[in-house]
Amino acid sequence: MINSVLIANRGEIACRIIRTARALGIRTIAVYSDADQHSPHVTQADCALRIGPAAVQDSYLNSDAILRAAQTSGAEAIHPGYGFLSENSAFAQACTQAGFCFIGPSHSAIELMGNKRAAKLAAQAAQVPCVPGYEGESQSNSAFIKAATQIGLPLLIKATAGGGGRGMRIVRSLETFEAALDSARSEALNAFGSDELILEKYIKSPRHIEIQVFADQQGKTVHLGERDCSIQRRHQKVIEESPSPTLTPETRAAMGQAAVAVAAACNYVGAGTVEFITDPQGHFYFLEMNTRLQVEHPVTELVTGIDLVAWQFKIASGEPLPLAQEAIRWQGHAIEARLYAEESRAQFLPQTGTIERMLLPTLPNCRIDHAIAPSLAVSPYYDPMLGKWIAWGQDRSSAIQQLIQLLSETRIEGVTDRKSVV
Ligand code: ADP
Repeated sequence: MINSVLIANRGEIACRIIRTARALGIRTIAVYSDADQHSPHVTQADCALRIGPAAVQDSYLNSDAILRAAQTSGAEAIHPGYGFLSENSAFAQACTQAGFCFIGPSHSAIELMGNKRAAKLAAQAAQVPCVPGYEGESQSNSAFIKAATQIGLPLLIKATAGGGGRGMRIVRSLETFEAALDSARSEALNAFGSDELILEKYIKSPRHIEIQVFADQQGKTVHLGERDCSIQRRHQKVIEESPSPTLTPETRAAMGQAAVAVAAACNYVGAGTVEFITDPQGHFYFLEMNTRLQVEHPVTELVTGIDLVAWQFKIASGEPLPLAQEAIRWQGHAIEARLYAEESRAQFLPQTGTIERMLLPTLPNCRIDHAIAPSLAVSPYYDPMLGKWIAWGQDRSSAIQQLIQLLSETRIEGVTDRKSVV
């Protein structure tokens, strides 16, 4: 088993990884920027190293600084968490080349699945249904217009390197199509350094359903069921639950098989999530694969009783999958709400401030994954998500009721900067 890990991340996910690492007897090494010197992940880890100034480019996205910290601390493995460098194939490769065990899939699987166009082509080759669209090589406006006419409206323009909803545009009429292409290209180029686009038929009243997969180094792949992440704003998840309230047992089984096929098609190793979209008729289509631990992984943990981070460590250490597919069982219902430091009266703009007072309730069948503490500054440098509030119940309505109670008994004061309310 790995005996030490550097966590190349911050916030709640760094704390989450530390919790399991400690339970497994793995020494934990945190890294921090100047803005995070007093953050919970720094105090919770066995040791912590500064990697640079507050700006992400100089710290949590600075792979050289992170690798130097790994060398200095004598870490054996590097866990990237989610976000930051977790889906950066060059970072995964650099970790391996420097002799560290990267807790994630190979850099080539990350690269393949990091490109929506290449990922869809790989899924199609594995006989997995994809949203009808255009994944052609030509990026000319005329090729897109021709494809759009065939696909029909409304459609979605997506950046192949995209994520976080950036570079995405809904097109409802052909007159606005070229302008939407231009603005998607420039947003994508700015955000991802690539202006390559694909088109997809816009699925009306869709549900976002994703399957958690795990694969070991021996070539076995299993799935841990689905998460329904259909409650979104600006095409980004805010509430996630498992199981999905809409799937039939047949569709669930077919999606599980499809997800395993996608993972196998890219020789996947470790934890991954295969995202699908379903239409009201019950058809499902592959969207993309996330090659890392997801924000919403706790709902899977609560219904399966499996510690996903522990599985990540075991698989990265070369152990086989702890359970065969037939031995994976699901019980009850789990639901998660993400909590953000935002001002609801100012278009949900991220807020900064100092946590003045907090009260986090302890309730049965509930869990709060967070990285906040009294007197902690919530800085403008990072994602405004403060943590995740998760509840389990025997069925969906009791899980929801439990989550409502958990949220209503929670008090966090200080992060709204009243002066900035417009
Ligand atoms: P990103 O990687 O930028 O987050 P995704 O491709 O994962 O983008 O899509 C994000 C969300 O956008 C999905 O969860 C879904 O709600 C919506 N979406 C994506 N593709 C489609 C589509 N073809 N039709 C309708 N909605 C879609």
